Amino acid sequence: MRKKTEAKIKVMVEPIGFGFLQTMITFLKEAKASRISTRQLIAYVEAEKASRQEKVVGIKGHPKELMRCPECDAPMSLQPVNFSKGSRTGDKSKAVHSCINEDCRNQIFYNKTIKEIKINLRKHKEI
Ligand SMILES: [Zn+2]
Repeated sequence: MRKKTEAKIKVMVEPIGFGFLQTMITFLKEAKASRISTRQLIAYVEAEKASRQEKVVGIKGHPKELMRCPECDAPMSLQPVNFSKGSRTGDKSKAVHSCINEDCRNQIFYNKTIKEIKINLRKHKEI
C-alpha cells in the first residue's frame, strides 16, 4: 500500500476507532455476500432515522410526562395496563413506561395510575 493512502486511512479511522473499522469491514463483506448495495444501506438508514424521529416528536407533544430510559437514555412512553383483557400483565400494575428504542425495549411497571405518575413527574418526585 502506498504511504499516502495509508496516511489518508489513518486520518479517517482516528475518529471512529480501529475496532469499529474492523466491525464495519465484517459488516460490508456480509452485505456484499447478501447482495445488499451501499445505496440500499443508505436508504435503510434514512428510513429508520425518519421513523425514529416520528416517535420522538410524538412524545414531545407531552413534555411533562417525558422520562428517559435508565438503560439507554432514549425517551420512554407512558401507557396504562390492566384496564382490559388485552392489557393484562399478570400483576397489579396500573401503568408502564416503555423505552422507544427497539434494541432496548426496557419496561418499568408501576402500581400508580398514569395521573399519579404525571403529577409526580411534574413535581420531579420519585414515581
Ligand atoms: Zn432503553
